[in-house]
Amino acid sequence: MKVTAPYQSLENIRKRAWMLRLANGAKPGRYFDAMDALEKLDAGMVEEFNRHIWECVQIEDMPDSLGEVSLKERKILLREDCYLSATDGDKEGLFTVAHELGHFFLHTDCRLHRLLPDMELDETRCPEYQADAFACELLIDSDYLIRSIHRMTIDELSDRFRIPVNKLNDHLGRMAKNGDINQQLSLF
Ligand SMILES: [Zn+2]
Repeated sequence: MKVTAPYQSLENIRKRAWMLRLANGAKPGRYFDAMDALEKLDAGMVEEFNRHIWECVQIEDMPDSLGEVSLKERKILLREDCYLSATDGDKEGLFTVAHELGHFFLHTDCRLHRLLPDMELDETRCPEYQADAFACELLIDSDYLIRSIHRMTIDELSDRFRIPVNKLNDHLGRMAKNGDINQQLSLF
């Protein structure tokens, strides 16, 4: 069984992430606090519609995942340890929050498939791939990255934007495929 979402180009995902960056006063070249953005979004929803869009869940109630999104309830569930690490500015915690925000904004129409034998679906239609791409575009100032990649190492970029190195690496591959950066630069 595979789950898919409608195709979204990296440009489109970038635009949607940038709207959230702008709405939260993201500063050029600086890291983006995804947890702070989620809390502000939540406060706005409570004020306007009297409903929360996220909640903190005890570890024993969500033993297998750090974060989840209920598409039916339109709600982000963060496990307590993930919430605490995100509020501490930890890269993995912040990435999980940014990833769940990706599901929250991008995924309203996911489908379950029983595929034809030997059929493979394009990875760009995978909701996990799209949520990771959204998370990277949310956490990274991609204009800054494109300008600075020649003079910064992957560890420096990872520290600057507080994003795990493996997730940054994946995204450099996506950006290279999209023509944003040179292919070789994504392989260092
Ligand atoms: Zn996910």
